[in-house]
Amino acid sequence: MIRHLLSGADLDAATATRILDTAAEMATVAGREVKKLPALRGRTVVNLFYEDSTRTRISFEAAAKRLSADVINFSAKGSSVAKGESLKDTALTLQAMGADAVVVRHPASGAAHRLAEWVDGSVVNAGDGTHEHPTQALLDAYTMRSRLGRLAGLSVAVVGDVLHSRVARSNVLLLSTLGAKVTLVGPPTLIPVDIAAALAPDTTVCYDLDAVLPTSDVVMMLRVQRERMTDSYFPSAREYARRYGLDGPRMRRLPEHAIVMHPGPMNRGMEITPEVADSPRSTIVEQVANGVSVRMAVLYLLLGGNNA
Ligand code: ASP
Repeated sequence: MIRHLLSGADLDAATATRILDTAAEMATVAGREVKKLPALRGRTVVNLFYEDSTRTRISFEAAAKRLSADVINFSAKGSSVAKGESLKDTALTLQAMGADAVVVRHPASGAAHRLAEWVDGSVVNAGDGTHEHPTQALLDAYTMRSRLGRLAGLSVAVVGDVLHSRVARSNVLLLSTLGAKVTLVGPPTLIPVDIAAALAPDTTVCYDLDAVLPTSDVVMMLRVQRERMTDSYFPSAREYARRYGLDGPRMRRLPEHAIVMHPGPMNRGMEITPEVADSPRSTIVEQVANGVSVRMAVLYLLLGGNNA
């Protein structure tokens, strides 16, 4: 098993499948009255969050607790980070406390990789800038596999703000490893020119959402990340929604079995309408539930649960 999970590229098909299969076993714990396994008793997991998060932070916390680990939640607000302490000094503090795993979210791309050089425990990248978010890709793959029964051969359209999306990057890497075919869809200003080829050679790019809908098994809508935008990438929110938003009429052009995904948080009315977000095709709430099982599997396997 790998020691750190920093990128979707860290996972070969066998390792990714093992995580998804383990997650399926972990999911059965969620249905029990006592939602706990003793697997990580006596181990310490630190959640180190330098950026806001709702789903991911709670999900990692629930996952570690369900495995009986000791959990330390560290958020940049209210800590010495606010006084200017560097990531390296924080890492050394965690190291001194004997963290077995550090789950890190940071606004700088590459922060998780740096941290992995400084601590002895496992590092899990929970989102670094616009770079990667590998456990999101795993939970997305898990959700696709459980709804559609397979990953190999699926056509997945990843739609919207690809430029700023760590979710898109990790998904392209993982899905192509697992044999799905990804098409990146969005305005040319939000799809970096060489991204498809750089990430995975069989990924394609299309600027016309309506053209890809009839042949997509999965449509993954991305949040328009205004907080990371330094330029104006499209004329107006209304124009964006008209060309790249998923609304009811567009959803009805999808094949009968197709599903609609979104990593959250959603801009309802911009990239997705409430009618679509709340429809039976939407897996948005399932994705959150699956996130806990997938993160349990990741922590369990990285921390040596494979020997258990
Ligand atoms: N929650 C995801 C992330 O942290 C997606 C988003 O923020 O739009 O990357």
